[in-house]
Amino acid sequence: MTRQDQLRYLSQQSKVSVLIIGAGINGIAAFRDLALQNVDVLMVDKGDFCSGTSSASSHMIHGGIRYLENGELRLVRESVQERNRLLQLAPHYVKPLPTMIPIFNWQSGIWKIAAKFFGLSGLLLSPTGLRLAQSKGEGHQRGGVIVKLGLMLYELWNSPSIVTAARMPSHRFQLKVSSLKQFPELSSDIVATAIYYDAVVLSPERLAVELVTETEKMSQNATAINYLSVVGMADSQRTVILHDEVSGQQFQIQPELVINATGPWIDLTNRKLGQPTDFIGGSKGSHLVLDHPKLREAIGEHAIFFENDDGRIVLLLPYFDYVIVGTTDIRVDHPEVYCTQEEITYLLEMIGRVFPHIEVEPSHILYTFSGVRPLPTDNSKQSMGQITRDHQNKIVEQAEYSFPVFNLVGGKWTTFRAFAEQVTDQALKFLGQSRCCDTKDLVIGGGNDYPFTDREHWIASVAENYQVDSKIVKKLFDRYGTGARAVIKHMSEPLLSRTDQWGKNELNDLDPFDQTKPLGNVADYYVGEVRFIAEQEKVVFVEDFIRRRSNLAMLGQDTPQLRAELTEIMADLLPS
Ligand SMILES: Cc1cc2nc3c(=O)[nH]c(=O)nc-3n(C[C@H](O)[C@H](O)[C@H](O)COP(=O)(O)OP(=O)(O)OC[C@H]3O[C@@H](n4cnc5c(N)ncnc54)[C@H](O)[C@@H]3O)c2cc1C
Repeated sequence: MTRQDQLRYLSQQSKVSVLIIGAGINGIAAFRDLALQNVDVLMVDKGDFCSGTSSASSHMIHGGIRYLENGELRLVRESVQERNRLLQLAPHYVKPLPTMIPIFNWQSGIWKIAAKFFGLSGLLLSPTGLRLAQSKGEGHQRGGVIVKLGLMLYELWNSPSIVTAARMPSHRFQLKVSSLKQFPELSSDIVATAIYYDAVVLSPERLAVELVTETEKMSQNATAINYLSVVGMADSQRTVILHDEVSGQQFQIQPELVINATGPWIDLTNRKLGQPTDFIGGSKGSHLVLDHPKLREAIGEHAIFFENDDGRIVLLLPYFDYVIVGTTDIRVDHPEVYCTQEEITYLLEMIGRVFPHIEVEPSHILYTFSGVRPLPTDNSKQSMGQITRDHQNKIVEQAEYSFPVFNLVGGKWTTFRAFAEQVTDQALKFLGQSRCCDTKDLVIGGGNDYPFTDREHWIASVAENYQVDSKIVKKLFDRYGTGARAVIKHMSEPLLSRTDQWGKNELNDLDPFDQTKPLGNVADYYVGEVRFIAEQEKVVFVEDFIRRRSNLAMLGQDTPQLRAELTEIMADLLPS
């Protein structure tokens, strides 16, 4: 069904069992799980799918070793298990990531972190309290001993007795000499490095959209529409008003249950539903993408995870030929944010702490992105870093409402499946239905039939089958996993049926029968590929393709020329 068909259907349909507001990763995951249980579910987003916080993460699929310090053992255990699961269920997007922690001394942080773990941090702050930590020069560093203990605990949930799916290799320590041999640009102030394994998702927005489109294919009762906002309630207080951001048309829907998955917008959305809440205490985080070959070479294929003097964690992440640097953690009261000059200065300065001989300047910045963590409101005096990253469903039931509202507060990208499972169980209970299947082993999109051990054979056989150059197949396999087969099938079909509306178009001297022609402005992408994505993946604006169906924006390729070319290629496919 096209977006237009879906909206037409919506105008004739006034009731739905569950309305999910917000299509970030948490809304999308709940959408998938509910649809699998045969619940009729409508998911709407005021923007594109995965265009809020979920597009601004540090791209880590991780257990969150740092959360151990706060004693959040449940969260770490769940996150490690979900990480390992995602490596199996979405192997085309979620990849193992060796992560290096530079260690500057052996002892520091022991008392301080023990106090945090046992919830006694107050002692450290109290003027009359014991000074358990911070002997001169110690700052907030975690020394080698504490890192070792942390990694041992972290890997408990990765042990063979617990893990049935993918398992990560164990951590190892390297002393100074071998550390500097492996990372020659590293500060010579280190005493050792620790290397452990987490995972990375380089295209989170693609993973999210695959979940959406796959869910709609699996279930006739599931409808997901982007650029459709919740703007208010009709008089009856049982009817939610939806506004089409493209045409301006309005729709009304009466749900039995509402899931408010609007992340940092949760309180604003509840206000629109006539039910003010104070659930979210947002924290802004910004990242930079740096085009700096020397720095990229210095980190190799490792993420580098270290802390600043103020105890904040800094991450350097290899991202294709570039490096992502993140992140800040700043209390904010509104969800619309951007990366400020102050944050840029802070992040660039941090790099010098571990790589003192590599000069990084603003001119190396290719792209910046920011988002707001939808953390729970916390009025205590603890630092942003100490506020829980765990997820919770806050249920609002009011007498005047005919539907309750589930509010999905907090959560990590990593734990989307587990969070959705818990929310779905609660929704099923409310609807009086029982679970018929679960998502624990449900492979995602291009992770199906993934050739873990024989990808060269997969590439060769698809190339032969569709008579397409194997270099193109390889590129598309890297981008879409086994989903590349459908893209290539589409590309190998001549545009015969479309020549009436499109064939006379002199697009880049395009032969209308050749969809394998590379784009004029990004040779890495193909005309037929762009058309396939526009047709199959709910693209409404060219920007959706540049920012979320591909990595082109983050790779610094978003130019007016590319936009013009894509507009032409997609012209007949986008809703007008
Ligand atoms: C800087 C930073 C780094 C992070 N790094 C990691 C990491 O490395 N690993 C990890 O696991 N997690 C990470 N996270 C956490 C993770 O990204 C978030 O917890 C998660 O993306 C939240 O998703 P969400 O679906 O709840 O919210 P969102 O993704 O924000 O989705 C909410 C959606 O609601 C929509 N919406 C708002 N109002 C309305 C309305 N009125 N009508 C319709 N739609 C509406 C918005 O358009 C938006 O798309 C990070 C977060 C940040 C900010």
